[in-house]
Amino acid sequence: MPLLVMKFGGTSVADLDRIRNAARKVQREVDRGYDVIVIVSAMSGKTNELVGWVEQTSPLFDAREYDAVVSSGENVTAGLMALTLQEMGVPARSWQGWQVPINTTAAHSAARFESIPRANLDQKFAEGFKVAVVAGFQGLGPDGRITTLGRGGSDTTAVAFAAAFAAERCDIYTDVDGVYTTDPRIASKARKLPKIAFEEMLELASLGAKVLQTRSVELAMRYKVRLRVLSSFEDSDENSGTLICDEDEIMESKVVNGVAASREEAKITLVTVADRPGISASIFAPLADAGVNVDMIVQNISEKDYEDHPGSVTDMTFSVPINQVERAKKAMEEAKAAGRIAYDELVVDTDVAKVSVVGIGMRSHTGVAARMFKALADENINIKVIATSEIKISVLIDRKYMELAVQALHDAFGLEAA
Ligand code: ADP
Ligand code: ASP
Ligand code: MG
Repeated sequence: MPLLVMKFGGTSVADLDRIRNAARKVQREVDRGYDVIVIVSAMSGKTNELVGWVEQTSPLFDAREYDAVVSSGENVTAGLMALTLQEMGVPARSWQGWQVPINTTAAHSAARFESIPRANLDQKFAEGFKVAVVAGFQGLGPDGRITTLGRGGSDTTAVAFAAAFAAERCDIYTDVDGVYTTDPRIASKARKLPKIAFEEMLELASLGAKVLQTRSVELAMRYKVRLRVLSSFEDSDENSGTLICDEDEIMESKVVNGVAASREEAKITLVTVADRPGISASIFAPLADAGVNVDMIVQNISEKDYEDHPGSVTDMTFSVPINQVERAKKAMEEAKAAGRIAYDELVVDTDVAKVSVVGIGMRSHTGVAARMFKALADENINIKVIATSEIKISVLIDRKYMELAVQALHDAFGLEAA
């Protein structure tokens, strides 16, 4: 029997009516002859509420209990979805992660899949069940405890099931009707892309476009899953939404195909660090040990005279996710106290945002950086840090200019027109 994976995000299962609406979409696929694995998120806002409760109860929480609490939202929607389908006459059964089991690593709150044995679900399909509703975002760690996959992780659950069960397609139903050139909530001129290459989607996701969790795109690329993003609020057919696919399936492509933005950034500067071999290693090793994800880095060599040694000191600036600032500060202060690094001052700036342009065409075209910087300059937006890779350029700017920067770049690269 051909099999589809259908994933419904938080807004698509926000209340009983919406669950019914989603269930009707599932029923349609069953009527077309598919077995379906449905992956559900928690009702919208639920996971945030659960995270808030954990943080209020215990600021330095035990990650195992965090996972026990925040995974629970998905259990509710999985059961309700199975009941709704049953009411419609569709034989459906719900599954929590441990029941499948979805085996993951032990990294609580950021676990990764190890294996998804098919036997239990296959047996239920063989018994005549048409739909398995699986709670997204959660798994079972090697210690026998519940794990979660990081925020937005239900997308990754969906792709992992599509790979494990050789699904014909993995459809991600959400509150937008596809992947756009940029977040349509930021730029009204954003244009829906009929197709986007895995590499570009991967960059956009990791640079802040939360329409898909980064890891889900990685898995889809590795296991050649046909991944599609489409609206749960509109009627759809085979051509709806956006297909994430290999770049050679795409005929037309611009140099830049998307703009991403992230508010969840912070900038840390270590002022007057001795400029000598090994200094970067002694700063970034303790950060890595503390589990801090350093993203952009700039080292400004100071030419000013300092104790009669011109050029002997430097400022080191780097960006980290905003929720890791305290951890990063602690790692730096401990390294300083232990005499492993020396600096005069540690300055944190949390009023920043990262804006990025992405396009596989950058591999073969020059001048993208110049065009990007000119567009920002024309809006009087100051660039604080720059980072580039083969197919993206990112800048850190004042957060208050984020929307303006996204719109200016969207215009500068002509993304509105197909
Ligand atoms: P779900 O709850 O269904 O998982 P999310 O809120 O996680 O949905 O992701 C969908 C949201 O992603 C959209 O509402 C949109 O604001 C945002 N988004 C950011 N960048 C993009 C983009 N390039 N294309 C489409 N949506 C985007
Ligand atoms: N409910 C989880 C979250 O809000 C997982 C998901 O929605 O993908 O992060
Ligand atoms: Mg999501």
